[in-house]
Amino acid sequence: MAMELEDKYGAHNYHPLPVVLAKGQGVFMWDVEGKRYFDFLSAYSAVNQGHCHPKITKALIDQVQTLELTSRAFYNNVLGVYEKFITEYFGYQRVLPMNTGAEGDETALKLTRKWAYKVKGVPENQAKIICCENNFHGRTISVISMSTDPQARDDFGPFTPGFITIPYNDLPALEKALQDPNVAGFLVEPIQGEAGVYVPQEGYLKKAYDLCKSNNVLFIADEVQTGIARTGKLLACDWEGFKPDVLILGKALSGGVLPISAVLADDHIMLTIHPGEHGSTFGGNPVAARVAIAALEVIRDEKLAENAQKMGELFRSEVTKINSPFIELVRGKGLLNAIVIKPHNGKSAWDVCLKMRDNGLLAKPTHDHIIRFAPPLVINEAQVREAVAIIKESIKELE
Ligand code: PLP
Repeated sequence: MAMELEDKYGAHNYHPLPVVLAKGQGVFMWDVEGKRYFDFLSAYSAVNQGHCHPKITKALIDQVQTLELTSRAFYNNVLGVYEKFITEYFGYQRVLPMNTGAEGDETALKLTRKWAYKVKGVPENQAKIICCENNFHGRTISVISMSTDPQARDDFGPFTPGFITIPYNDLPALEKALQDPNVAGFLVEPIQGEAGVYVPQEGYLKKAYDLCKSNNVLFIADEVQTGIARTGKLLACDWEGFKPDVLILGKALSGGVLPISAVLADDHIMLTIHPGEHGSTFGGNPVAARVAIAALEVIRDEKLAENAQKMGELFRSEVTKINSPFIELVRGKGLLNAIVIKPHNGKSAWDVCLKMRDNGLLAKPTHDHIIRFAPPLVINEAQVREAVAIIKESIKELE
């Protein structure tokens, strides 16, 4: 029934796995018949703190019953508290609050261009931003203008100009692109999530950052998916010990209860944008502000980065032990992992996902042959072992 309704009245812009969910708690979701599943997608890493976390839910309810939305036409008594909290939490001087991840990326692009004209001195309308092949930064026109995925781009042109595309994980290509004096920024995912959890070689990000610095170019990290403890550190860039000039966050900033994104940067970048030049009706609303504080407190208080690191190691080592012609490769960092599936017996990654669903675990293929495994970061050791047993059993049943 629910599937028929979506099929009949909704746009066909998604192809969901056939399961109708009605409830979530922690690492689990239940369907309308009461069957329980491990959630190994976490709404694309938005539900890092686990479903219906009581602290986040309470913050949401308390604030929505008190003051929900003022717009930025007026001050409210929560936004400033949140801005102080999040900037101290991540070590930046300022934050610009938005809603979705794509809006966060759009904001970072605008900010980088503005900085190019006002600070770097790039001639009017000449600013360029370097992006990577196989990136995923969302679905808006400017964002898909950077995409190299035909499915994301085809028939949506004309595209926004001003981007230079280079291969991911390729420092010589970056070095070459940086020779253009009009380059303002380098936008990159520390791990390419949607592309299939591509982890660059160790040292790539820090060296890329250093190259940007020596060329007076902003390093812009899209940590919408990798950030907020997912990879075993608060930020994936923390693995290489540097601080991006511009940081984009989304998804888990709310623990999954509403769309909240943020762009963080220091004064010399952020203060190039003035009143009237950028904004959003809902960005920085009191409910989002309260929820984001709670969501970030949960990450810190429950030590979810440490848990993601430990459980991620366990997950990869256990999955690597599964001996199957279906498994080509296991890769990832923290609890952002993927199995590359080799089609076998006429069965593909989609069939593996259907079988795992039957056995009580939900995950989704990305790009046909890759399955991402990204459970809520509150998962414990017994649950990881139980989940791996389900993955193994599902694969064996298809062999
Ligand atoms: N950036 C990255 C790295 C993402 O993974 C995503 C979504 O998957 C986005 C941006 C877009 O976020 P949203 O869907 O909230 O617009």
